[in-house]
Amino acid sequence: MGSSDVVIAGAGIIGLSIANRFLRQTNLSVTVVEAAHKICAGATGAGQGYIWSGHLNPDSKTWDFSRRSIQLWHEFVAEIRASGVDPLEKIGWRDTGSLLFTTGGEESLALHNRLHKVAAAGVQGEFWNSHTAQTAEPALVLGPEGAAAFFPADCQIDARATVEFIQQENRALGPGGRYKEVFGSPVTGFLWSPADKYMQGLQTLNGDFHSKRAVIVSAGAWSSDLLEILSKRFDLDLTPSIRPRKGHLLVVDKTAGLHLNYGTMEFAYTSTKNSKETLDEFGVATTATVDPAGNFLLGSSREFKGFDMTPDEAVIQQILHRAAKFFPALASVPLSSIHPRTGLRPYTPGGVPLIGPIVELPGLFLASGHEGTGLSLALGTAEMIVDTIMERSSSTIFQWSV
Ligand SMILES: Cc1cc2nc3c(=O)[nH]c(=O)nc-3n(C[C@H](O)[C@H](O)[C@H](O)COP(=O)(O)OP(=O)(O)OC[C@H]3O[C@@H](n4cnc5c(N)ncnc54)[C@H](O)[C@@H]3O)c2cc1C
Repeated sequence: MGSSDVVIAGAGIIGLSIANRFLRQTNLSVTVVEAAHKICAGATGAGQGYIWSGHLNPDSKTWDFSRRSIQLWHEFVAEIRASGVDPLEKIGWRDTGSLLFTTGGEESLALHNRLHKVAAAGVQGEFWNSHTAQTAEPALVLGPEGAAAFFPADCQIDARATVEFIQQENRALGPGGRYKEVFGSPVTGFLWSPADKYMQGLQTLNGDFHSKRAVIVSAGAWSSDLLEILSKRFDLDLTPSIRPRKGHLLVVDKTAGLHLNYGTMEFAYTSTKNSKETLDEFGVATTATVDPAGNFLLGSSREFKGFDMTPDEAVIQQILHRAAKFFPALASVPLSSIHPRTGLRPYTPGGVPLIGPIVELPGLFLASGHEGTGLSLALGTAEMIVDTIMERSSSTIFQWSV
């Protein structure tokens, strides 16, 4: 079906961002092969859009990588601005800042400690008591013991608009066949050359796609299927390193009249995001943001339910029930104004994405397993993969072997 320097499996934010960086920074040609008939078919389409540091733990293995990726987002936005285009209009970019909140008790102290730790690691923040938080964010009701940490530098994107923008840019950067997208072509296998001991492309339902330089698996939660194919064929132990973790996000129509000045997240969310331990059977913890159209986005759940993406009424009710404790106005929103989105986060047991070469199979790279932070980490991932393949010393500090 064709040949290019780089062949990428999966047109989510990770695959398209990697393609974008190759097109911007190298002369290599790129083909993206996608199972669905459109972009945003996976977790990316459900993503809430926060690009935040405040909720991260500086002790985590991914801290420096996250900070680098967020810096790359700022550079990306600066370039959009410099070209005379409004990043709000194109990718829904807003410098809203974020609020990490608690209703009090022991969590207040933990939040305070976290704020100090994050500040010591270079992220500016302020501790707000309940009154200050309520004045700044009237929709959020925390009670007399409540508190919030405010991180002014945190930002938001509209995930779908951003991926569309990156896709358009890829098309503009790669005319004359340097960039190709192939939709409706699930990858079913790998083209391995035993003579060269090198991965030479991907097999799909619609034919083979040959690569001269690198094959990259960035199929989100479905990367697990492709790793299973590799494990069986090459007798490797690559499973179960990635698992689908289902998430619901509720879009509350703007006509319901809910408004926020900041991105918001309950502090308890930070301890459940990378853990198997969750607050309830559906893994619900509250995050709320407003999208560029004015809709109120309410997250989210975390469940291991295989590849089922059907919205679940019980989960929707639990998200609403929990969020109404903090945003009481939600209790009077008619259900007809609430529309669920679901996505499968690519979960890894260690809470760290898998980015880098599969060393047993030269020419093959993995960029997946970003769980709930794939939007934030997309540009850092692209940098890490491109620098690795181009044999540049990476400005990204950590490299993970797969
Ligand atoms: C409810 C929810 C809210 C979230 N909010 C945020 C947030 O605010 N901030 C943040 O940073 N992250 C957030 N995330 C996480 C983020 O959305 C994911 O980490 C990220 O989208 C993963 O991107 P991806 O490209 O790896 O995967 P995906 O977006 O899932 O893309 C993988 C692509 O591969 C394709 N594919 C599958 N199988 C094959 C095959 N065999 N061959 C070819 N293609 C294939 C799929 O169709 C899909 O298009 C959220 C996730 C959820 C579910």
